[in-house]
Amino acid sequence: MSKNSSYVVGFPRIGEQRELKKALEKFWSKQCDFSEVKSVALELKQRHWAYQKDAGVDFISTNDFSLYDNMLDMAITLNAVPKRFQELKSEELYFSMARGNKNSVAMEMTKWFNTNYHYIVPELSLEDEYNLDASKIVEEYKEAKEFGIKPKINIIGPLTFLGLSKRSDGGDVYELYSKILPVYKALLKEIATLDTEVTLQIDEPILVKDLDVKVLSLLKPTYDALSKVSSNINIAVVTYFEHSNEATKILLNTPIWALGLDFIYGEENSEILEFTALSDKVLLAGVVDGRNIWKNDFQTTASLVKNITTLLPKERVILSTSCSLLHTPFSLKYEEKMDSEIKEWLAYGVEKLSELSLLAQLTLEGEASLSEEQKRELELNKRASESRKTSTLIHDKNLQKKVEEITKTVRDGTYEERIKIQKRQLGYADLATTTIGSFPQTQEVRQARRDFKSGLLSIEAYTKKMQEYIDECVAFQEECGLEILVHGEPERNDMVEYFGEQLKGYGFSQNGWVQSYGSRCVKPPFIYGDISRPKPMTVAWSTYAQSKTDKIMKGMLTGPVTLLNWSFVRDDMPRGDVSKQIALAIRDEVDDLQNTGIKMIQVDEAAFKEGYPLRESKIAAYEEWAVRDFKIAVSAAKVETQIHTHMCYSEFNDIIRTIEAMDADVISIETARSGNELLKIFAEVGYKQEVGPGVYDIHSPRVPSVEEMVQQIEALLEVLPKEQLWINPDCGLKTRKWEEVKPSLINMVTAVHTVRNKI
Ligand code: GLN
Ligand code: ZN
Repeated sequence: MSKNSSYVVGFPRIGEQRELKKALEKFWSKQCDFSEVKSVALELKQRHWAYQKDAGVDFISTNDFSLYDNMLDMAITLNAVPKRFQELKSEELYFSMARGNKNSVAMEMTKWFNTNYHYIVPELSLEDEYNLDASKIVEEYKEAKEFGIKPKINIIGPLTFLGLSKRSDGGDVYELYSKILPVYKALLKEIATLDTEVTLQIDEPILVKDLDVKVLSLLKPTYDALSKVSSNINIAVVTYFEHSNEATKILLNTPIWALGLDFIYGEENSEILEFTALSDKVLLAGVVDGRNIWKNDFQTTASLVKNITTLLPKERVILSTSCSLLHTPFSLKYEEKMDSEIKEWLAYGVEKLSELSLLAQLTLEGEASLSEEQKRELELNKRASESRKTSTLIHDKNLQKKVEEITKTVRDGTYEERIKIQKRQLGYADLATTTIGSFPQTQEVRQARRDFKSGLLSIEAYTKKMQEYIDECVAFQEECGLEILVHGEPERNDMVEYFGEQLKGYGFSQNGWVQSYGSRCVKPPFIYGDISRPKPMTVAWSTYAQSKTDKIMKGMLTGPVTLLNWSFVRDDMPRGDVSKQIALAIRDEVDDLQNTGIKMIQVDEAAFKEGYPLRESKIAAYEEWAVRDFKIAVSAAKVETQIHTHMCYSEFNDIIRTIEAMDADVISIETARSGNELLKIFAEVGYKQEVGPGVYDIHSPRVPSVEEMVQQIEALLEVLPKEQLWINPDCGLKTRKWEEVKPSLINMVTAVHTVRNKI
């Protein structure tokens, strides 16, 4: 049977056992040469093609593989190499751009839309010349053909490439359009020589954003021009993470072959299917979630596909993943320890491949066409959906009742009332000094945690070790004169995992790695069921630490929005409802902390901004529940209990009113690298609450001098009055060494004394 009905936007490349990570890191530390990396890469590419082929996927990618990042690959393809690297060649050039070298800083890296994947930001300039280097694309295509598949080629589209770049010479990136487009044309010309017919996937995720007219007006000329290069090429323009309705309407009037739309995170894509139907375009319907780990609910998807095929003839519908599978873990086959009931609900990358081909066959060709094995899979899928609807692992009646009965959703007292009482009772000075929570995680601390987990260390021995570390942290903080202390967080491997492990409804994987950037991977926990807190999570550590000092010990919690945004979240409930359950658990923790004598509690919201929707029109709804749930999380705090929050960034311009509405008494933020520039917004809007702008950059091993920090503090004082300012580092210190942290904090405290003496 010849069919062309299943399409995978892209596949993870790090390897099922993170082979690429290991090879790269070995090479970077000079323990092997580049040929070893190349051969691991080829092996992985072949294995990944085999997985897709065996699953019956019809459209399999090349050039989705990368040794570091696809945007970086595209920059190399266009020869968009910043001046400081132009002398270098091949892998030295490539990895220097990604990671910097002795002489030159690395290129900037930033988040890929609202995912946790980071891409390298191309640096463009009117002075530079751009020209084609198609070698990687050509080589991978040939490798795939040799391997025995007829692949498609993936590239990043010109509008997305430009839109995500920055100008090193200042000015608008789109001014470079006329320099970049000819290189794309040359690339297509080269691609056309590879075969009599080539499928070319051009990723244009930028089209899911609210674009200005100027950018949209480039769309038709771009795709008219690219389509004209060769009749050998079938162009598929693919968008994901949101709807792209404005762009879709335009693209339908260009000679491209197909359009890839995300029906999971861009439901609105359905709204303009009639237009698509009127055109001659093929629809790559993204119906298998590329960003989550749950089994597809075949029934729901089947009815979605039915809606599509009532408007479009089946010959013009191909089922696809909603985006590249890069954002999901590789395969369930290494999950040996997972609860078997929970495991039945999951599908990682490899499992999604067979879901996709089964779905394509089921919906486009009918149930009768399924093989015996597929019929079994269909049965398992039905069972999983049923069990998720009723399992007591997921549904907790008591908790649901507790959520419904929440009546107190905000703290007592206005900020003005609270702060007066707090200042009096807590008695801290202006420019009070503190830190963000964690202290260096030494080898010994990490080892103790691991040994405890694996059963090598008894709970008593482990507790003793952690307490000794806390003792040291307290002693050092007292010695150097810090005013508000922290316990140092030695018991936490990670600010989400630590809480997830203690909350009911949270699950963990053994091998659920997802690429974050380059060779770095993260293993997010997942929320599968109703969240509740069986018992206090931090109280013992905080009260122990408080017992060791007369100074104020700050309690340390992760906030509901961050716990949510850094996890895979159940898809059978709105995110805001999940977040509310977490908020309740944190609220109870806040209450327990204050009842055992903790007077200040910091609720970290490091990932608050990350959860922002890509479309303006959806922001209000997100902010509404995100703010609501932060407030619920701290609603139990008495007026005299001071609530701090911390966010790891400093660009608050767009969200300053929202931050204010969260109503924390104190917020610490990251500002060391930007001086007082980014603090100004707080003054401009008349922000009332107290602010702790970071005075030193914790991402660097450098020890800042007293003078430097004096200057920094004086600059802050130009913006906000001393009564409103706290002094602290940018973020937690866990990734630093004690040798760096100690002198830095001593200098920070000295700097504060110096400034206090002057004013
Ligand atoms: N309290 C946490 C720490 O200090 C905050 C970490 C973060 O903001 N990423 O490590
Ligand atoms: Zn931080």
